[in-house]
Amino acid sequence: MLVEGAILDRDGPRAAYVRFRNGRVVEVGAPGTASTRGRLHQVRGIVIPAPVNGHTHLGDAVSVREPPDGPVEELVAPPLSYKFQLLADTPRAAKLAAMRAALGRMVREGVGAMLDFREEGVAGVELLRSALSEVPLRGFVFGRPLRRPIDARELAHVLDVADGVGLSSARDEDTDTRRAVARACRRSRKRYGLHASESVRERPETYLDPTPDLLVHLTQATADDLTAVRDQGVAVALCPRSNALFGRQADLRTMERLGLKVLLGSDNAMFHTPSIWSELQFAYTSSRLLGRPVSASFLARAALVEPWAWLGVPEAARVAPGSPIRPLVLRLPPDDPAYQVVTRVTEQVIVRPGPRPRRRSR
Ligand SMILES: [Zn+2]
Repeated sequence: MLVEGAILDRDGPRAAYVRFRNGRVVEVGAPGTASTRGRLHQVRGIVIPAPVNGHTHLGDAVSVREPPDGPVEELVAPPLSYKFQLLADTPRAAKLAAMRAALGRMVREGVGAMLDFREEGVAGVELLRSALSEVPLRGFVFGRPLRRPIDARELAHVLDVADGVGLSSARDEDTDTRRAVARACRRSRKRYGLHASESVRERPETYLDPTPDLLVHLTQATADDLTAVRDQGVAVALCPRSNALFGRQADLRTMERLGLKVLLGSDNAMFHTPSIWSELQFAYTSSRLLGRPVSASFLARAALVEPWAWLGVPEAARVAPGSPIRPLVLRLPPDDPAYQVVTRVTEQVIVRPGPRPRRRSR
């Protein structure tokens, strides 16, 4: 397949052609100069790295009804909220089926990787691993030990099966717990993340000590807080649709101005589809509704570029021969790629060059 149009990747937007063989990029160049011009199936469009959903709680996909009204804590905070009761009351097979269905939807929408905060301890991580084993998608799974105070054996077991630990928040977990978790993550070369300043402002000295690898939300953070996060080099995952349900939005414009490393995520699967495209559209539109517009290119980087760097595979965010992840082709006008990517993508415009990718075993 030959795509004539544009590339949008970590090097920015540019007019280009991309030639694929068996789903892999084999040739890239200036438009109209492809060596096989005229002999291949041609598509006009935009070639991008596969996007990453930077924050999910896929276990919540077991919820099939409109969640009750109430503050976010009553709905999702551990251990007694609506969400945790639902998880406890749902059989294992039903949770597995719900997560598989959500992952299948992400795959159909072209998502290449996702970062999930999985609840329910070791068993919860293993259940998501099981669901992930059947889909061609990279899953980065943050587990969460259940016992407090931290039980070193349980924590070690979580870290054996997970890629890191994702905690509720600095408000919910005391300093000793956070330190024990962060230390164990460092020792086993895994990642430590937590939610921060979601419904109320927390002081950065709490959630930045010990230094996490990822913060989620920061909807109530001030510009000074965001500067402290940037200066400490910590990446932030934002979930605009989830925050908007509770009347909040992160200050995307200040984050863009400060040059924060930002990922985008769809958050709890009981609130929304795990669609990165819906998240992009909502982030773009709602930033204008608030009178705090962000650029399309900032949002596109949050879905296509920053998360791959965070995952340690920055080359996946480049459309070039040898890329470790298959890029996507979008049948969209190539004149202004970032704007198209942020405002126009649905499953229907995604074209997948080459054969179907095989299932990943893990
Ligand atoms: Zn979360």
